[in-house]
Amino acid sequence: MKELAAELRKYKQVFVVCDRNVIGFARRIRHDNLLAITADEAHKTIDTVMDICRWLCDCGADRDALVLAVGGGVTTDMAGFAASIYKRGIRYANIPTTLLSMVDAGIGGKTGVNLDGYKNLLGVIRQPEFTAIFPEVLETLPERELRSGLAEMLKTFIIKNPRNAYETAVRLFSAGSFASLGMTEKEKLAELIQLAAGIKQDIVEKDEFESGLRRKLNLGHTWAHAIEWWQKGSFAGARNDTPFTHGEAVAIGMVQAAKFAERHGLAEEPGLADRIAKDLKACGLPTALPCPAEELLPAILKDKKTYGSKIKLVLPLRIGKVAVKTVPSESIAEA
Ligand code: NAD
Repeated sequence: MKELAAELRKYKQVFVVCDRNVIGFARRIRHDNLLAITADEAHKTIDTVMDICRWLCDCGADRDALVLAVGGGVTTDMAGFAASIYKRGIRYANIPTTLLSMVDAGIGGKTGVNLDGYKNLLGVIRQPEFTAIFPEVLETLPERELRSGLAEMLKTFIIKNPRNAYETAVRLFSAGSFASLGMTEKEKLAELIQLAAGIKQDIVEKDEFESGLRRKLNLGHTWAHAIEWWQKGSFAGARNDTPFTHGEAVAIGMVQAAKFAERHGLAEEPGLADRIAKDLKACGLPTALPCPAEELLPAILKDKKTYGSKIKLVLPLRIGKVAVKTVPSESIAEA
């Protein structure tokens, strides 16, 4: 916190936009110039961004101001977007409060909002000044949200696995709930968060606009987005009684990707899909598709990663190594 206070002193004006569920934590950072927002997908809209911009204007925020986003991915995406368009762009920084935003959403500069229910359709890529991580804020995060973030963390370590971080994370999270972790384990978790965040930052620095390397971060997301679409009942006859969180859908997607890699003779590690499924299950994450694979096909064909009848698919080859392959979109329904 001391380092953060020193960092913030560099800015003439600081405006905090926080998720109202973490307002107590946000107040520890700053009392004044604080706007609490409702941070859920339904409120992740241009209207909320306009409210933030209006508030900045009412408070007299000038072009040297810093917007400090305190919250999960919904908050950092919206506050970052508001900062990116207010007065043609002012600076912003992130203090992520979910595991997912610490290792993913709070890093990389993708900002934006949903449009008419379509996720993240409006937005810009603009890098934050800094992302400061305080793992202690996870104490209040609901366990399911924590595990959702874990899926993205494990995804990062399937892409790159320095110092067997993947194995350490699986060990840590299969041992029990976050509340049951001791001091040593929490310190270990803090190290894993830094490691995963560093891997993402490194990838983004090499490929900010996702023309190559950054695509690897989409591991599991082809299926995940299709599952999220399917859950909304867009497919005639779909049931929506047990909706998965984004991270849970990514977990299922990673297993599907590993199965695909094995079926097409690309996996370098025998039994890779079974191993990933076993690990995810041990961490309390789902691994099975909620519907027959062909029911996901309409969404896969509309995916941003689809080009004509082909799709760029991220496939795990072993823990710590993935490859991006262009495959016929229809072949995904076999998985
Ligand atoms: P979130 O912001 O949706 O928050 C999840 C829930 O946890 C909310 O109810 C929130 O109020 C609550 N919460 C947050 N921190 C808390 C804390 N410390 N204690 C108690 N409750 C807390 O969650 P998320 O999973 O971080 O973000 C999901 C969003 O991130 C999606 O909209 C997704 O599109 C976006 N996203 C963006 C990127 C990117 O690169 N910009 C990457 C991945 C996801």
